[in-house]
Amino acid sequence: MPVNRPAVWFPLCAAAAAVCLVLHATDKRREFAVEFLFSLLVLSEGVTRASGLPWLKFAYFPAVIGMTGLYSLWTVLGSLALLFLLVPLGILAARFGFVFSQTNLAEQGAFAAFLLATAVLSSLIFTRLKKEREQAVSSLSEIRDRAQSIVPQTGMESLSSDEVTSHYFASMLKTDEEIGQLLLTLKKAVFADSANLFVPTDNGIGLRCSTEEKGSIIITGKGEIGCCLTEKRTFAAGEAEEKKIDLGYIKKSGKTTSVMAFPVNAGPTAIGVLAADSARYHAFGSVEQETGRMFSSQMEKVLERERVYLQIKREHLGLKVLSEESSKMLSSLDAGVIARTLCEGAERIVQAGIIFFSAEDGKFRLLHHTGEAASDKLYDLRGTFVSHIMDVFVANRQPGGLADVSDCRMPILPFKVTDIKAIAVIPLLYEKSVLGLFAAYGGRKDFIDNAQLHILKVMCNQASASLANARLHAAIEKMATTDGLTGLNNHRVFQEKLSAELIRSGRTGKPVSLLLTDIDFFKKINDTYGHPVGDQVLKGVSAIIRETVRTIDIPARYGGEEFAIILPETDAEGALQIAERLRKTIGEQTFTADGKTFRITISMGIAVLPGDAKTKEELIEKADQALYHAKHNGRNRCVLRRRIA
Ligand code: GH3
Ligand code: MG
Ligand code: MG
Repeated sequence: MPVNRPAVWFPLCAAAAAVCLVLHATDKRREFAVEFLFSLLVLSEGVTRASGLPWLKFAYFPAVIGMTGLYSLWTVLGSLALLFLLVPLGILAARFGFVFSQTNLAEQGAFAAFLLATAVLSSLIFTRLKKEREQAVSSLSEIRDRAQSIVPQTGMESLSSDEVTSHYFASMLKTDEEIGQLLLTLKKAVFADSANLFVPTDNGIGLRCSTEEKGSIIITGKGEIGCCLTEKRTFAAGEAEEKKIDLGYIKKSGKTTSVMAFPVNAGPTAIGVLAADSARYHAFGSVEQETGRMFSSQMEKVLERERVYLQIKREHLGLKVLSEESSKMLSSLDAGVIARTLCEGAERIVQAGIIFFSAEDGKFRLLHHTGEAASDKLYDLRGTFVSHIMDVFVANRQPGGLADVSDCRMPILPFKVTDIKAIAVIPLLYEKSVLGLFAAYGGRKDFIDNAQLHILKVMCNQASASLANARLHAAIEKMATTDGLTGLNNHRVFQEKLSAELIRSGRTGKPVSLLLTDIDFFKKINDTYGHPVGDQVLKGVSAIIRETVRTIDIPARYGGEEFAIILPETDAEGALQIAERLRKTIGEQTFTADGKTFRITISMGIAVLPGDAKTKEELIEKADQALYHAKHNGRNRCVLRRRIA
């Protein structure tokens, strides 16, 4: 046998190994793998024997583990079987007188069995690891494919805007699911204990998603994870526990020795940190870190898509509200309705505190507030932050804007509002006057985005125009219905209101009284003191009438120095009482002119429906008759129509 002649045996084995290696390397199908491994094994067997160092045999174990990592189990087992076939051949040869082997069959058999078991075991472990890695990679590509398919490339044009929004919204809802899957895949791919996605919060970091059970990750502060976020840098540690590194989080159960963290960026800002941890030392080498980086770039896409979808949804909602509420505002001439429409629309657009003040002679009436402050109260805004910022906007002709008030020392609003970090202030301007003030505030500095603010400005602009319209309309209506000198209802309104009251009385069966008043010897006042003094007397009398009658009564300037008062649901006796009270009050009032004081008296005629008349004209005529009677019976008196013959 050549083993007894190493000079021949070595070159032979080496040549066989070299030939097999060349064949093996040139032919990619690994067809000659068995021969190659076999010649390597024979060569090492020969080296062991020739050197006379039997412990060298233990080198077979790492060699076999290495082989199973590179070759299939059957290839390794095949080459080992070929090697072990040599043992019985050797023993057989010894029988015929050849000195081939000093070891016995049992020893050889046991060694062979251990070697085979090692091959099988290590092959099983390698196969499993490979499978997990393949699974992780295929899951990642699956997630990527799904992410691609969520954004439909074609056909969106044919959908209505509402359908597009609901489609976006539906796909956005899956983001958490998708992030969860991505984290799970990362955990498997890098053999981590847990994988987590942290997001920025006002105080540092918060946990968005984790492979761990809820509550098992406890945020302790900003830590290294927070630094990854603010400085947009990656972080890796292999002995975090020993070096007492503050990660910004701890785990309820188990140590966190190795950590790697990657910022998840959206343009120039970091919007999250992807982190994986393990209790093992130096668990994340360059390969794992490269894998982590790959996952963080995928996470960027998922989060960016969510951000864009949310923005589209917000903008869509904003525009929808704008178009709906604008038409409501335009069609209304009621300031209260306009303010309510604006605030309700704003509440639909942005989840924030909403306030609306309407300007009234330098003060501001609170028409709407989502908080506890009592609405419909008149406030003086001087000295408040909203007033200050409103003045700045008005002076600079700015439509409004967002202000950070977290460090503001001034009172922000005229009443206390808790948890306010930023406030969007929009003055409602019409030409040069301030009609009102709109404000939205939130507990976060970014509670409103630019698009939402823009839509609110457009809505406030619409509201300003509608409010100006409403005010103009109210002014015209007032001019058309009230008497310019006294501010009482004019004759036309008196006629309309009396007709309405008579209809109501016909329905309810309750009486209506009519008072007609005429100032006694008024011509004399005009003649003595002049017309302007006469006008002052008319104003004074009308003010007393307004103050003396009940809220349900309707006073009016009937004409000249004559006043009419409609008394709904009042009979003759009640009417006489009111008339007497009025006569006395006016009689006690002193007027001054040219340094002299004087008093006046009035006469009154009272008629009641249904007792004295059936129709409006008849009622007025009867009241006039009673007044005539009062004038001809000494003046300064009240006369009931029914008391005269
Ligand atoms: P009598 O007691 O009979 O009522 O005497 P009188 O002087 O009041 O007579 P009459 O009621 O007829 O007088 C109406 C006067 O009221 C005539 C007019 O000069 C005056 N008058 C009417 N409208 C106004 C007004 O708007 N301002 C002023 N200053 N005077 C008015
Ligand atoms: Mg008169
Ligand atoms: Mg008169």
